[in-house]
Amino acid sequence: MLNIVIFGPPGSGKGTQSEKIIEKYGFAHISTGDILRNEIKAETDLGKKAKSFIDKGELVPDETIIDMLEKKLESLENVDGVIFDGFPRTVEQAKALKKMLQKRGEDVNVMLNLEVKRQELIDRLLKRGQVSGRSDDNLETIEKRINVYGEQTAPVIDFYKEEGTYRPITGEGEIDDIFGRICEAIDSVK
Ligand code: AMP
Repeated sequence: MLNIVIFGPPGSGKGTQSEKIIEKYGFAHISTGDILRNEIKAETDLGKKAKSFIDKGELVPDETIIDMLEKKLESLENVDGVIFDGFPRTVEQAKALKKMLQKRGEDVNVMLNLEVKRQELIDRLLKRGQVSGRSDDNLETIEKRINVYGEQTAPVIDFYKEEGTYRPITGEGEIDDIFGRICEAIDSVK
């Protein structure tokens, strides 16, 4: 099974590119942000807890996320590959993912890092905010999320560099051109 981490700051196109990957390769998609938003909608205890962090642009605590991810992973059956979107977001989460996959005799095959400049991220997220209805797509929270990314999430890059699975991808330009670069990286590890 192929395990792909799609990585990058908020607004780098992880969700958009994940959809295209699923369409082409038929892999399963695990988006921790989507799972959390569904929990919030369903007003579960997890959703209530997560909402306070999400609305402030902060990360939901590792323990909660790792637990949630493990359950989701266990629920998948008969899949050729998995795309991890928005996870891992801390080095702690990256280590936990490695352990979970190791138990199944697997590992992350490739980590795709979508590289996009800060101002482009802000512009994209403000534009998305006009239609997404997401409570965290406003200027103050967007800036906070990008800062949190730099402080807590960017160190994950070094983790995968050491693992030897890191692949930087230019995340600017036409969506299909970005997707072409992603496909090259996926096909090289298939
Ligand atoms: P996303 O949809 O990936 O942009 O995630 C939206 C928000 O959900 C983030 O700003 C975090 O508050 C929370 N979140 C999603 N994934 C994670 C994660 N792996 N670790 C911690 N918080 C997360």
